[in-house]
Amino acid sequence: MALVVQKYGGTSVGSPERIRAVAQRIAACVRQGNSLAVVVSAMGHTTDELIELASKVSANPPHREMDMLLTTGERISMALLSMALADLGIHAMSLTGSQSGIITDDSHRRARIKRILGDRIRGALAEGRVAIVAGFQGVSEKKEITTLGRGGSDTTAVALAVALKASRCEIYTDVDGVYSADPRAVPGARLWSELSPDVMVELATRGAGVLHPRSVELAKQHGMALWVLNSLKPVGQEGGTRVVIQPPVAGMEEL
Ligand code: ADP
Ligand code: ASP
Ligand code: MG
Repeated sequence: MALVVQKYGGTSVGSPERIRAVAQRIAACVRQGNSLAVVVSAMGHTTDELIELASKVSANPPHREMDMLLTTGERISMALLSMALADLGIHAMSLTGSQSGIITDDSHRRARIKRILGDRIRGALAEGRVAIVAGFQGVSEKKEITTLGRGGSDTTAVALAVALKASRCEIYTDVDGVYSADPRAVPGARLWSELSPDVMVELATRGAGVLHPRSVELAKQHGMALWVLNSLKPVGQEGGTRVVIQPPVAGMEEL
């Protein structure tokens, strides 16, 4: 039985219908005999809306309070996805970053993951449940809630895959994979079936939002197999780009 970490981005869980479709996709994967930990982003533009809401209340919101606010977006998706799975007869359990033991440094709004305890995730998986984990968030040693920066759910997914020693990490989004340029802005952009992590980091740091640069660095450092796939396509027709990761460099196994 393979342990797979999947991550679904904001568009993929952007409406009740899409959440139910993601639940169907997860159910199919479970019925194939896989064990699954699933990371979710906030629905659609929820994070942008929360930022705008804060700006209407305060001209200079404290970063700590922004993290308290923004982490609620992912809590909504994780609970709704677990409910949709229950309807399909799949036992799931939603967990916040803090409940998952995702320990970060103290830097509100741009925290880095230091380690993942993951006890409750492992417990859920051992009971045959799907663990649904809120992306983009963690907790500091001082028990302060933190966020990882915009797009940070990709990093949650890869870090979790490393911590759980998963066989692969699948990032589901709203395009067929990684293109030579943003396919929405450049109509002739070419889909990569495979690309190196170095090219991917370069694309990401130049603004290709499809993968958070830190997630690619982590996958490279730890030798984690990383895929970008389209959640809006039927199961088995997701297209996909494989980020070709070599085995880890000795001595670099720490998160
Ligand atoms: P998610 O919510 O799934 O994390 P994002 O919006 O963060 O999705 O990333 C997916 C988007 O990234 C695509 O809709 C696409 O417009 C954009 N994008 C920018 N550059 C690229 C690229 N080189 N390849 C693929 N998508 C890209
Ligand atoms: N919801 C957060 C954001 O919009 C994190 C993520 O989607 O990865 O940036
Ligand atoms: Mg993203």
